[in-house]
Amino acid sequence: MKSKASRWTKQLQAIMDIVYSNEFNLTADEVYAEARKKIANISLGTVYRNLNKLVQKGYIASVQKGQVQTFSKHPFTNAHFECVRCKRILRVPFDFNTLELSKKVGMNVASWELRMTGLCRECEKNCI
Ligand SMILES: [Zn+2]
Repeated sequence: MKSKASRWTKQLQAIMDIVYSNEFNLTADEVYAEARKKIANISLGTVYRNLNKLVQKGYIASVQKGQVQTFSKHPFTNAHFECVRCKRILRVPFDFNTLELSKKVGMNVASWELRMTGLCRECEKNCI
């Protein structure tokens, strides 16, 4: 009997590698397209299950972009950068200390979010 909860499968590793090799947040479909290059017979359902497993384990983050769920390699940040040109979103790995913020704001800060916009590196290159 295999334990469902604790199995670290080849698929799970492949999916984590895909999310971690991309700077931008990916949709499940995008992860699926990449995963099929590595594991020909992988299903979209498997990709979804493994993405959710990685979110539950805290290795990746699920980020809502409008109606679409995307996945990011940075679970420990609430800072997002959105490219005004290609509209892709990436999470920026930095953190505010809520205790420090509370001191600055003079109120008890429980959570924070930061949304930045601008040109991503690729779009900036293509603009020149
Ligand atoms: Zn861009």
